[in-house]
Amino acid sequence: MKTRPALAAAALAVIGLGTAACGGGVAAGAESAPAAVAKTTASEAVAAPAQAQAPAKALKGKVIVIDPGHNGGNYKRPDVINKQVDVLTQKKACDTTGTATNDGYSEAAFTWDVSVRLAKLLRAEGATVKMTRENNTGVGPCITQRAAIGNKAKADLAISIHADGAGSTSHGFHVIMPKKINGPVDPVVAKSAKLGLAVRNAVKKQTGMPYANYIGKNALDYRSDLGGLNLSTVPKVFIESGNMRNAGDAAKMKSSSWRQELAEALAGSFQTYLK
Ligand SMILES: [Zn+2]
Repeated sequence: MKTRPALAAAALAVIGLGTAACGGGVAAGAESAPAAVAKTTASEAVAAPAQAQAPAKALKGKVIVIDPGHNGGNYKRPDVINKQVDVLTQKKACDTTGTATNDGYSEAAFTWDVSVRLAKLLRAEGATVKMTRENNTGVGPCITQRAAIGNKAKADLAISIHADGAGSTSHGFHVIMPKKINGPVDPVVAKSAKLGLAVRNAVKKQTGMPYANYIGKNALDYRSDLGGLNLSTVPKVFIESGNMRNAGDAAKMKSSSWRQELAEALAGSFQTYLK
């Protein structure tokens, strides 16, 4: 949907459809990003007996692209993020601000924090991890570019991390998977569905976040309006981790220990999928 630049603050683009969209156009303040820690664990090679070799790392040789939704600086540049891009099934905004909790914890800060935690876990298991943005203070990239990064990396899988901004009584998480659109994503629709199921199961089991009560079925939803999915040639899903406008979900998402649980659930689900 379109917004007019003349609407000043309201000019921030709105993503998606209806109340379920996570692009509430909230110009939340940029939160400080956690330091990107990506140290590989030192192997305990030294004076160990020959038979005590470190076990093979579960994700060695795998390439994983993490797309932290939105960006902390998006609200400053409606001229950039409102630019229309072609997502094959429609034209839509290059990017959006994302939503925020009622007390101002932004979706962009949340997705960045979870992504950094996830990248660290995946790298510790030997994966090559690429992120679609390098910090939470910039603008964009466009959703088309976010898909292109996964494609260029020939990723074994990609995930776009989001949180929703729905009505206050709506709660829970859901996973979004691509549909066939007679386009580039078609060959990876089946694999994406398998990935989505693994993600759904792990998040349900490990995080205490319930299935969304307002969208999808058993936390699974399929869409053809998202550029990040339509343009992906690698298996890819979105997770809407919870509803930032619901008090219970927001409390979880504001908790660093819950964000760590979510990152661990996602990392585990990737191992399940890639097995
Ligand atoms: Zn979002």
